[in-house]
Amino acid sequence: MSSNVIIKIENVKKTYTKSQALRGVSFVMNEGEEYLIRGASGSGKSTLLYLLGGLDRPTEGRVIVNQNNLVDLSDEDLALYRNRYVGFVFQFHFLLSSMNCMDNILLPARLGGVESDEVVVRAKNLAKLLNVEHCLEKYPYELSGGEQQRINIIRALSLKPKLLLCDEPTGNLDSENSHKVIQLLRTLAKEFGATLVVVTHDPQIAQSFSNQLVMKDGLLITQ
Ligand code: ADP
Ligand code: MG
Repeated sequence: MSSNVIIKIENVKKTYTKSQALRGVSFVMNEGEEYLIRGASGSGKSTLLYLLGGLDRPTEGRVIVNQNNLVDLSDEDLALYRNRYVGFVFQFHFLLSSMNCMDNILLPARLGGVESDEVVVRAKNLAKLLNVEHCLEKYPYELSGGEQQRINIIRALSLKPKLLLCDEPTGNLDSENSHKVIQLLRTLAKEFGATLVVVTHDPQIAQSFSNQLVMKDGLLITQ
């Protein structure tokens, strides 16, 4: 297994007007490995994931991914980083209701100007693998929650992200489907050589990860 450090978080703080979501967090992650983040609600897990994904910037500290400090990137370069490097799977799936599922899946490629036959073929193959081939021409509101979540996963993987960030990705699913989705994310991340970071409350899922980050009140209490 590779042990190249791909992510280095150094003394990261994030302050909102009324709260300190992160109060000085530091850790490293190795390329291609899987990490689980857990901790009580409000402990800063989502904030940490947003900073890793370049969806927000820290108030203080450094977020180094692949030797670039995200803090130093322009808004434009940060958008490029999100588009090319990161796949997001969130509990609330953010599929756009105005377009069918295939168009939703292809949206990151279109926005990034990198739509290609390869992306379309990958999307179709993943849809077959995840049993949602029949959903591609449908609109999100015509799908069950589980189907929407799988479409969401395909979109997140559509550009072969090097970093796959999942925030309570199984929040809406029953335990059998939760288990399936997590296994799938792990298998696909491995196949693509992506570093996988999963936030979950589910203790059964959590215990199957060997790398555990535990958050409490904006601090990391173990790694
Ligand atoms: P978790 O994902 O572990 O539940 P969050 O990272 O969402 O925790 O939140 C950490 C803390 O930061 C909480 O106190 C939350 O209320 C606060 N917080 C998160 N996002 C915002 C925001 N956009 N504006 C103000 N406060 C926020
Ligand atoms: Mg959260």
